[in-house]
Amino acid sequence: MGAEMRCQARELLIIGKENVVSYERPTLSKAYCKPEGPKLPGFHACVGGGGEKQEPAWYKEKGIEYLTGTTATSVDIKGKSVSTDKGQKYSYDKLMVATGSTNITLDTFGAKNAKLNGIFYLRDIADGDKLNEGIAKAKNASKEVVVVGGGYIGMEVSSMLTPHGLNITLVFPEDRLMSRLFTPDIAAYYEKYYQDKGIKLIKGELASGFADAGDGSVKAVELKSGGTIPADLVVVGAGAKPNVDLFEGQLDLLEDKPGGIKTNAQLQTSNPDVYAVGDIAAFPQTLYGGGPSRQEHVQHARLSAAFAASEMMAPGKRGDYNYLPFFYSREFDRAWQFYGINQGEPVFFGDASAGKFGSYWIDDGKVVGAFLESGSGDENNAIKQVATVRPSAPSKDELSKAGLDFATKASQKSAATVASAGNSFSSSQACVDMAVIGGFFLAAYGFRKLRTMHYNR
Ligand code: NAD
Repeated sequence: MGAEMRCQARELLIIGKENVVSYERPTLSKAYCKPEGPKLPGFHACVGGGGEKQEPAWYKEKGIEYLTGTTATSVDIKGKSVSTDKGQKYSYDKLMVATGSTNITLDTFGAKNAKLNGIFYLRDIADGDKLNEGIAKAKNASKEVVVVGGGYIGMEVSSMLTPHGLNITLVFPEDRLMSRLFTPDIAAYYEKYYQDKGIKLIKGELASGFADAGDGSVKAVELKSGGTIPADLVVVGAGAKPNVDLFEGQLDLLEDKPGGIKTNAQLQTSNPDVYAVGDIAAFPQTLYGGGPSRQEHVQHARLSAAFAASEMMAPGKRGDYNYLPFFYSREFDRAWQFYGINQGEPVFFGDASAGKFGSYWIDDGKVVGAFLESGSGDENNAIKQVATVRPSAPSKDELSKAGLDFATKASQKSAATVASAGNSFSSSQACVDMAVIGGFFLAAYGFRKLRTMHYNR
C-alpha cells in the first residue's frame, strides 16, 4: 500500500493465529536459532522484499485492523462470513485466503514415539522459541543432535545450529542433499562443504521412530534399516502440506500434487469473491503450459498477494499472474539462487573447487532453468533473465564452457524483451500486501481508494 493510501474504518481486516503480526518466515530457518539470532521486530514483513517494515504501528497508520492470536474456525463461503475462536463472526465483500502450510509430522507416517520431548519442527516463531529452549538444553546434555530431512529445513537448520558447538547428524532417504533441485554435481559440492563443517550425513535412510529416554524425552532416532543415532535434540524437516481444511466442500480443491485451492490466472478461486495466495494457491502456470502449480516460496507469497490485492481492487486490469519460479537459500557463507524449472538435462558449469559454479537445464532445445552459487547481483539477474527468456541451447559442451558468459550474453541480447517479461511485479511493488504471509487475510477492498467495501461484526 502506498504511503498516500489509507483504509477507511472497517475496510480491511487481517485475521492471523500467531500472536505477532506478519514477519519474514525465511529468517526462522536461516538465523533465528543462531547464538544471538535476530529477534522481532527486526524481521517483520516486508524488509526481506525491500519494503517498509510492517510493525503493528504500520497497520494502524494505514487503517488496517490486524487481529493477532485469532484463529478462523469456520468460513461460510456462500454466506460470506468468517467465524473465529474468539466467538466473532465477520461478514466480508471479498476474501483473500493466505493460510499457508503446516509441517508434515512424522506420526503421519506412523513413526514410533514421534511426540517425545526434544523433537522439534520449525514453521513459526513459537516453534523457533521452543527450538531455542531445546538447543539450550542439548548444550548441557550430550550435545548429540539429529536433523531429519535433506531438503530446505534440513540444510538450513543444520547450518544454523553449527555455531552452537553441537554434534549434528543429518539423515535423509534420498541419495543426495536437496534431491528435488540439486543435480548430483551440485549436491556433491554441498555435501563436502557440510562434512567439512563437521556435519555427519547419513543418506538413504528414513527415520522410522524415536527411543524414549524413560522420562518422555528423546534419546535416539531409530532408522528403518534397524540402526539408531543417539540424540537429545531432533529437528524434523519432512515437508509441508497446504492448509485447506476450512474450505473443504466450499471451494474447488486439488488432490495431492499439487494440492491446494484451485485458482484461475487472476488468483480467483471457484468463488469469484475469494482469492487464494501463497502456498495454498494452485494457479495455472502460464509460463509452462498452464497446468496447476503450487509454489512454496516467499517470493510467490509476496507477488501473489500483491497481484490478488490489486485484482480485488480493480478486477481484470493485470492480465494473468505470470510467475517465474525462484528459489534461494543461504547456508554457512554459501548463497545460491535458482530460476525457472529443473526439467530436462542438467549442464554443470564453473569451478566447484573455487566455490563458484552453477547449472543450466536444457529441455526441448531451450535453456529452461539456471542455478548459481555465489552469484553477484548482476550474475543472479542474468540467470533470472535466461530462465525468463528460455533461449535456444548450444551443445552441452559449449554451454558448460561458456558458463556464466552464456547467461550474461543471452540476457544482454534480450534486455528489451526481458524488461517487460517475467514476474508481474517488481519486488518493491510486491511488498504492498506482504502482510498476508502466514496470516489469514480478510480483505474488504473497495475499487476507488478503498472506499466502497465494508465489513460488519
Ligand atoms: P522438503 O520437501 O524440502 O524436504 C523434506 C525432506 O525430508 C526430504 O529430503 C524428504 O525425503 C525427507 N524426509 C521425509 N520423511 C523423512 C523421514 N521419515 N526420515 C528422513 N527424511 C525424511 O521440506 P522441508 O525441508 O521440510 O521444508 C518445508 C517447506 O518449507 C518447503 O517446501 C519450503 O516451502 C519451505 N522452506 C523453504 C526454504 C527456502 O526456500 N530457502 C527454507 C526453509 C523452508
